[in-house]
Amino acid sequence: MKNTNDTTVNDDNTPWVIELADVNKWYGQFHVLKDINLKVRKGEKIVICGPSGSGKSTMIRCINYLEEHQQGKISVAGQDITGDLKNIELIRKEVGMCFQHFNLFPHLTVLENCTLAPIWVKKMPKKEANALAMQYLERVKIPDQAHKYPGQLSGGQQQRVAIARSLCMNPQVMLFDEPTSALDPEMVREVLDVMVELANEGMTMLCVTHEMGFARQVADRVIFMDQGEIIEENNPQDFFDNPKSDRTQLFLQQIL
Ligand code: ADP
Ligand code: MG
Repeated sequence: MKNTNDTTVNDDNTPWVIELADVNKWYGQFHVLKDINLKVRKGEKIVICGPSGSGKSTMIRCINYLEEHQQGKISVAGQDITGDLKNIELIRKEVGMCFQHFNLFPHLTVLENCTLAPIWVKKMPKKEANALAMQYLERVKIPDQAHKYPGQLSGGQQQRVAIARSLCMNPQVMLFDEPTSALDPEMVREVLDVMVELANEGMTMLCVTHEMGFARQVADRVIFMDQGEIIEENNPQDFFDNPKSDRTQLFLQQIL
């Protein structure tokens, strides 16, 4: 019998990989996250959307402690975020993150960008790290760019390097914060294709994106945020075809 107080597993006995319980955050006086509750199962794909300034990035950044929350609990892979150094290291190993602006190191080659963390954080021998990185660069279809510098690559290629770099750490979950919104339109597809592949391979993913085709294709749940709150969440079909809240309807009218 499942203990009804047991919050570490959900109904199908799959573990929660991410759990936010009554999370609140302020920037000074500004209440940016309001009572956020979100549980993500292993293998689940969540798309987060909402107007600019609604707190999407802040929420995502709290999950790997790039931002600190003031109230409530966040746990990742069974570890509560406490904010001490050992704990942050542990959390960051489990969570890969891709940003809008790639954040690659410009003075390192593509290969060096990918091997930096495995070598320095995981203490992996260089040869092994290189082989691992090449494997992921092949998966994102740019092994031929390994010895170039980020500045010599297109935006779409750079974002694929950023994804490969994260995967080299073998994270349990990948966070994406508008990974295609800084790209020229012709490069959006190549990055989304990599993300779809990753989703199909079973990666647990939280994606802030307004690519609604992607949401329909891969999301198990779509979450709509506004003014620091989760207003609505649903499976993609019901979310898009039958939004409940006025605010969701208005938002969808503006972007679709
Ligand atoms: P979104 O990603 O949904 O556009 P953000 O999480 O970036 O929203 O921002 C939510 C709100 O918090 C915005 O009003 C933004 O101006 C504010 N904000 C974000 N970062 C900071 C910060 N470091 N200091 C103060 N206010 C911030
Ligand atoms: Mg944002």
